[in-house]
Amino acid sequence: MTEQFDHFIGGRWTKPAEGRYFDSVNPATLDVLYSAARGTQNDVDKAIDAASDAFRNPSWRDLSQTKRGHLLRRLADLIGENAETLARSESLDNGKLLREMRGQMAGLPEYLYYYAGLSDKIQGDQIPASSPAILNYTTREPLGVVGAITPWNSPLTLTVSKLAPALAAGNTIVVKPSEHTSAAILRLAELASEAGFPDGVVNVVTGYGAEAGAALADHPGIAKISFTGSTQTGAAIASSAASRFIGCTLELGGKSPNIVFDDANVSNAAMGVIAGVFAAAGQTCIAGSRVFAHKAVYDELLERVKERAESIVIGNPVDDDTELGPLAFEAQRDKVKDYVKVGVDEGADVLTGGRRPDVDLPGYFYSPTVLTGVSNSMRVAQEEIFGPVAAIMPFETEDELVGLANDTQYGLAAGVWTNNLSRAHRVASRLEAGTIWVNTYRAMSPMSPREGFKSSGMGVEHGVEAIKEYTRVKSVWINT
Ligand code: NAD
Repeated sequence: MTEQFDHFIGGRWTKPAEGRYFDSVNPATLDVLYSAARGTQNDVDKAIDAASDAFRNPSWRDLSQTKRGHLLRRLADLIGENAETLARSESLDNGKLLREMRGQMAGLPEYLYYYAGLSDKIQGDQIPASSPAILNYTTREPLGVVGAITPWNSPLTLTVSKLAPALAAGNTIVVKPSEHTSAAILRLAELASEAGFPDGVVNVVTGYGAEAGAALADHPGIAKISFTGSTQTGAAIASSAASRFIGCTLELGGKSPNIVFDDANVSNAAMGVIAGVFAAAGQTCIAGSRVFAHKAVYDELLERVKERAESIVIGNPVDDDTELGPLAFEAQRDKVKDYVKVGVDEGADVLTGGRRPDVDLPGYFYSPTVLTGVSNSMRVAQEEIFGPVAAIMPFETEDELVGLANDTQYGLAAGVWTNNLSRAHRVASRLEAGTIWVNTYRAMSPMSPREGFKSSGMGVEHGVEAIKEYTRVKSVWINT
């Protein structure tokens, strides 16, 4: 019989109010993995009540900042002890390579250790006053109940990126994970309970975006919403938050340029382009899906990328030699297929890919695809495909390149491949994106703040600055 998961609310497994469940399917084999509770308004109400009670409860409210750090460290240790199970759970659910998820799980405790270290350094200031009789100081307070809504492509890392600073700052949290990846996030909540977080500090309501997600985002009981997902959903969440004057952190979509200059090491750049766009079958917000190559190296880059793309081993993501797994679910695969057709209808050529690869599994596989003959105004160069599809376009001058790279609604990340140091600095400063990588791609750390520019987001995740997203400032004036 298929395993069945309930919500995790107030420190215990809680049946869905309407008694309904939905299936989670392995996208490589199409086997049903488990079923999870289909959350609705009543379940979200219950979770917000539990989180509000926990926020007011002295067992959390009066816990010293240092002890909050200890709890985060204990959770980090438990994640380390359960890393293999968590990695496998994510890989089975979303089709990402098991060895990639093992790598992510090895790094995940670092996020918690980092914010554990910051938890007792959250402090206010003494402000100079106009009179010696006045003492003016500030305190940094937690907000209350944080609502967190996360996607399926890196469920645990993206959830912990919110949970760690939120808890370090003394908030409580209700998480609504993607309907495609419920299991690992439920296990995270269970581990938080085992680590000693009081009941109700960490709650998880599973279910669909339009039901549980919308109920959480619109709930009057949350003091902040922290969302990672598509720009379209982010816009709806931002307007709901604005109407209630609550803060929101939004980490949204991208269409990142990966730029190869004529003075680059083309062999390294080709590997960076491949990793930039085909990792996780292109299902990463930072996918370098618009590749710009200087016309002097354009042909060489195309040849190298094509050759490597055609040698990528596609198969079951849990097998050690697999380099590319399936797309995460059927609609995602169909979207990728449709975009390639849109590109061809707009005049693009398929240099390689554009079809289902020969894989002896029924899942949602799509081969690494390179489009040429693309102009930056075409839909395939402007809209986020979220699949293994790269458009490679030539350019001639640096000014032209900067204009093309910035000609997008998105501003999440960019890659620059050059051996000219002056150019690296100059172009990095001119690109409208929150993260710039030079001669590398995808580097990330809990210590380094990241912010999406333009339609790629609002607010900061990671680094010291993320703490501010989960606190508010109180200014106290005393006439001594
Ligand atoms: P999505 O917007 O469809 O869903 C994200 C989450 O929002 C899910 O939990 C979903 O159930 C929920 N949701 C959907 N509709 C909702 C609604 N009306 N109200 C409230 N919640 C709702 O995105 P996705 O397909 O899960 O994820 C892919 C997207 O996420 C891509 O656009 C990708 O670029 C983006 N992403 C961004 C980052 C980043 O850090 N910037 C990281 C990963 C993914």
